[in-house]
This record gives sequence, C-alpha cells and structure tokens, in this order.
Amino acid sequence: MEPNCIFCKIIEKQIPAEIIFENASVLGFKDISPKAPIHYLFIPKKHLASLAETPKEDLSVLCDIYSAIQEVTKKEGVDKSGYKTTIHTGKGGGQIVFHLHVHLLAQK
Ligand code: 5GP
Ligand code: ZN
Repeated sequence: MEPNCIFCKIIEKQIPAEIIFENASVLGFKDISPKAPIHYLFIPKKHLASLAETPKEDLSVLCDIYSAIQEVTKKEGVDKSGYKTTIHTGKGGGQIVFHLHVHLLAQK
C-alpha cells in the first residue's frame, strides 16, 4: 500500500471503482475514462510502480493478470472476436498512473 497511489486506494476500497474481477493477487476494474465499449484495468494488489521497476521475482503477477484477462474475456464473450492488452511504461510510454496495470480494450 502506497499512501499517495490512487490504484492502491482502489484496492483498499478507499475510493470507489466498478470492480469486475478480484482474487488474492489481482484486481480488475472499469477504466474511469473508457476508450472502447470494454475498457478494464488489471492491477497487482502489491504496489509495483511500473513494468520497468518490477523486480524479476514479482513478474509472475503478470501471469496472474493475463490469466484473469482470459477468464474475464471469456465471460464477456470477446475471447473469440478478440481484444487488445496494453501496458504503458514510464512517461515516454504514456504512463500516467504509477501502479503497474494492464489495459484491456474490446468491442462488445
Ligand atoms: P496509463 O497510466 O496506462 O496511461 O493510464 C491510466 C488509466 O487509468 C487511464 O486510462 C485513466 O482513465 C485511468 N484512471 C485514472 N484514474 C482513475 C481512477 O481513479 N479510477 C479508474 N477507474 N480509472 C482511472
Ligand atoms: Zn499503488
């Protein structure tokens, strides 16, 4: 928990979000400013600032995140039609919120 991190506050339920997935290591919720009919964010519950700042021993959380994405996209019925997943890393990569997250974008 990083006190100034907006996504940590969402994990702690200190600020609201439309949560669509939760397990022991991952939280998935709707992006507040959606760029597609389905635009969800998947984050590790552990605060990791960015992909560049994630130590190798914590990279397994990406496996948990992509597994969650497989489950959610199946439920949403877009696993066959297809979807896009993106990670913005650092200022030059367009990252605004410095808590590692994977964007999921799909048409409904
Ligand atoms: P990135 O850092 O990958 O560029 O993008 C951060 C994403 O987080 C943006 O798409 C933005 O709309 C979303 N976002 C920023 N603040 C909040 C928030 O408080 N709640 C939710 N649900 N999404 C947020
Ligand atoms: Zn955080």
